[in-house]
Amino acid sequence: MHELGIAQSILDIVRQSVTEEQASAVRWIRIRLGQLSGVVPDSLEFCFKAIVSDTTLQKAALAIEQMPTVFRCKKCGYRFQVNDLEYLCRECKSPELEILSGKELDIVEIELEEESDGNL
Ligand SMILES: [Zn+2]
Repeated sequence: MHELGIAQSILDIVRQSVTEEQASAVRWIRIRLGQLSGVVPDSLEFCFKAIVSDTTLQKAALAIEQMPTVFRCKKCGYRFQVNDLEYLCRECKSPELEILSGKELDIVEIELEEESDGNL
């Protein structure tokens, strides 16, 4: 399963980014996920939960922000955001498109739980 490997690499990065003491306080891992990455967000969250259960990171969960796909036409320079996959420029119908965003899979932020939970 594709998502399992990705969940594993996210986990590896998180482990490298926090100390052993901080690990148990990790609450959210904010991810930016492009629509073209081919990753199913629900599936990725599920896999991540599965691999962190019974580890020091068991309280951690993914907060996935889905990024729209943005193309730029190489011919006329028109930029447009797509929902369904389109492979022609909306302006000039050229198929020569450059992907500006949509393939990303980035860890944006690792959020730790506050020591004092005063806001609850
Ligand atoms: Zn065009």
